[in-house]
Amino acid sequence: MSSQPTQTKQTQRPKLKRRKRRRVCNFCVDKMDVVDYKDINRIKRYVSERGKINPRRNSGVCAKHQRRLSEAIKRARFIGLIPHCSEL
Ligand SMILES: [Zn+2]
Repeated sequence: MSSQPTQTKQTQRPKLKRRKRRRVCNFCVDKMDVVDYKDINRIKRYVSERGKINPRRNSGVCAKHQRRLSEAIKRARFIGLIPHCSEL
């Protein structure tokens, strides 16, 4: 009698458990092609307290809009709508 070790039928494949939170770009939802630099209320949400532009992984903005958003933020900074960098 050969005692076979009981093989567990567990597949060694850890399933990626990602939350089903759909991340949609807010600009895509509103179908905004151009990000308006005068629209501070909107832009401000994508700028950190220190005035830095939030990375895409945090804000959830798509690549296309992130590019335009960064342009808009830089423009808004230039005019003085958004601070360049606030003190710590
Ligand atoms: Zn988008």
